[in-house]
Order: sequence, then structure tokens, then C-alpha cells
Amino acid sequence: MTVPIITFERVNKWYGDAFHVLRDIDLSVRRGERIVICGPSGSGKSTLIRCINALEPYQEGRIGVDGTPLGIEGREDDRAVQAVRRQVGMVFQQFNLFPHLTVLQNLTLAPLHVSREPKREAEARAMAQLERVHIAEQAHKFPLQLSGGQQQRVAIARALCLAPKIMLFDEPTSALDPEMIREVLDVMIELAGQGMTMVCVTHEMGFAKSVADRVVFMDQGQIVEAAPPAEFFNAPRSERTRSFLEQVL
Ligand code: ADP
Ligand code: MG
Repeated sequence: MTVPIITFERVNKWYGDAFHVLRDIDLSVRRGERIVICGPSGSGKSTLIRCINALEPYQEGRIGVDGTPLGIEGREDDRAVQAVRRQVGMVFQQFNLFPHLTVLQNLTLAPLHVSREPKREAEARAMAQLERVHIAEQAHKFPLQLSGGQQQRVAIARALCLAPKIMLFDEPTSALDPEMIREVLDVMIELAGQGMTMVCVTHEMGFAKSVADRVVFMDQGQIVEAAPPAEFFNAPRSERTRSFLEQVL
């Protein structure tokens, strides 16, 4: 039995005093596993994945990432948080690129200024990641000169520059025009094929069917169901899952 790379044990989180956003979340992700999280808007999907890299505090339970415990709110350990963030890359719906920097400068910003890498090495690694997402020829353009799909691939390359062990995706194709969704999904499929541990919030059920090892369905802050895609799509156990699938499929 291999040690999981991400563990949630009875995690509870509230926004403010009253809004119970995550309820008794239990989830463990194995190294190299691909998880797709789906569920209605407002069910807590973004909150859950933001907890993995400590972008959100939680109040009860335990979260561990690659053997490092992320303490509950008030008992966070800065060094643990930094260690975890170094292992975890994140891609958002809005690409969050710096518009005044070129593609290459977007990729080398953190390596140069946070990790203090030599410029030549940072640029070489950035170019390698741009090649990995098939966009090296755009390195000297500015983000707004690119299509949405190209910008999202730059955002993926930027996350990969820090050599993460885990990649989190929060609806990476939801802001894209339909004709650009495919190129982003293709890059994600390639990453999956390279053994990356991935946790993806997405409503792209075709991607879930072909790539996910497990699909997790959330509703009202709870994990209602988690199963391999064949089981999840063909024989959902919960009525809530069935009615969600009727809407998205
Ligand atoms: P999802 O990603 O599934 O749409 P979210 O995790 O973004 O859901 O949000 C879950 C619930 O928490 C929603 O009702 C949302 O309005 C609320 N919420 C999200 N972020 C905050 C916040 N910073 N403060 C208060 N409520 C929030
Ligand atoms: Mg969300």
C-alpha cells in the first residue's frame, strides 16, 4: 500500500462563523492519480482544492500533502506551507498572467526572483516547459497577443516551471471559447500520460471519462460520491449524482 500524496481526514471549513462550506471531507489521492472533481456551482470544489496548497485555512480535521501536515487555522506552520506550495502547481479559470510581461518573462518571474536561479537556466527551463505545451514559438509575445487557449497553456507551463509534484486545475477551460477547449485538454491529457498527480475541477465529462482514475462528485460541501469513471457514469449510487449527470451529459 503506497502512502497517499494528498490526504483529507474529516476536514471541516467555515467561511466566517456561520457558513459551513466543507463538511467532513475524507479524500486520499495516490501518487500519479488523476482525480476529477465535479458538482454544482457553489458546492465547494474551488474551496476544497485551494485547501491543498493552503490558499484557504480550515478549522477541523487534517490535511497532509506529500507527508507534510498543513495545520488547522491558527496552527499553520509557515515552513510547512512554503514546502507544500513548492510541490503544488495551480491553474485557474482566469489565466492570471501578467499582461505587461512577455510569455517568457511570466515563466521566469518566480524562478528568478523567488528561487534566485541564474537567468540563463531559468530561461532554458521555461523554454522547455513552453515546448511541453507546444507554444515555444510564442515566447516573446505578450499574453494579450495570444488566444485564450494559448494563454491557458502558458499558465500551465508557468506552473510546470516550478517542477511541481501535484498539479491543481480549477475549471481551466471554463473561460475559453469552445474551439480552444480541446487544445488545453490535450495538454492536460499529455501531462496525465507523463504520470503527474492531478486534481482537476472540471465539467468536461469526456476528459473525466478518458483520463480520471476517480471522479468525485460534490454537493453542498460534501463528497457525495467518488468512484472510477466507469462506475461513476454508468452506475451512480446517489440520486444527487444522477440528477447532476442528467444536466451535464
Ligand atoms: P464551487 O467552486 O463549487 O463553485 P466554491 O468553493 O467557490 O464553490 O464556493 C462554495 C461556497 O462558498 C459558495 O456558496 C460561495 O459563495 C462561498 N464562498 C466562496 N468563497 C468565499 C469567501 N471567500 N467568503 C465567503 N464565502 C465564500
Ligand atoms: Mg469554483
